[in-house]
Amino acid sequence: MSDKPKLSRVVAHSHYATSFDPETDEEVYDASKEVLVRNMLSEIGEDPDREGLRRTPLRVAKAMDFLTSGYALSAEEIIKGALFEEDVKDMVIVRDIEFYSMCEHHMLPFFGHAHVGYLPNGKVVGLSKIARVVDVFARRLQVQERLTAQVADALMAHLGAHGVAVVIAASHTCMMMRGVQKQRSTTVSSAMRGTFDEDLRTRSEFMSFIKT
Ligand code: ZN
Repeated sequence: MSDKPKLSRVVAHSHYATSFDPETDEEVYDASKEVLVRNMLSEIGEDPDREGLRRTPLRVAKAMDFLTSGYALSAEEIIKGALFEEDVKDMVIVRDIEFYSMCEHHMLPFFGHAHVGYLPNGKVVGLSKIARVVDVFARRLQVQERLTAQVADALMAHLGAHGVAVVIAASHTCMMMRGVQKQRSTTVSSAMRGTFDEDLRTRSEFMSFIKT
């Protein structure tokens, strides 16, 4: 393809460096992704050169980079950097953690809330870090069940907790906008580890706390 953007003049540093096409002087973020988006626009019958779409490949490349930024992040590093010794034995629960992810079957968004609980074993983690761990796994191509399990397993592995519970309720735009078009359905998934898996009372206590 002759219209593949050429890169020159690096002006910024992010995950990809932004540069400018020497001929048009337009911003280029990730040339190969932008060409793919441009081809996609043509394939669906659009004109990628019309005013409203001219910068769409650039914007989509940036958005995709952000929405899949979780691949480059480590839950272990986030947790280990914020662990504190604390003699707490009672359940810690962070409710209603908002998240946005993309289903790996359609690359369409699914979004909702995660509720996370754990039973400390001499260590607690900064509460904001639990929300960040959710984002580490949400900002990837996902299925909801795997997202739920990965959050639970990462916390269980790096927190040294007696148990971890994760419940996620989400709406899937691939169900809402296409296919069965069920706009109001939510999908709930759960992952129980350690005490939450073994002890019904612990699990019930968690479930009663996350009820709204
Ligand atoms: Zn889907």
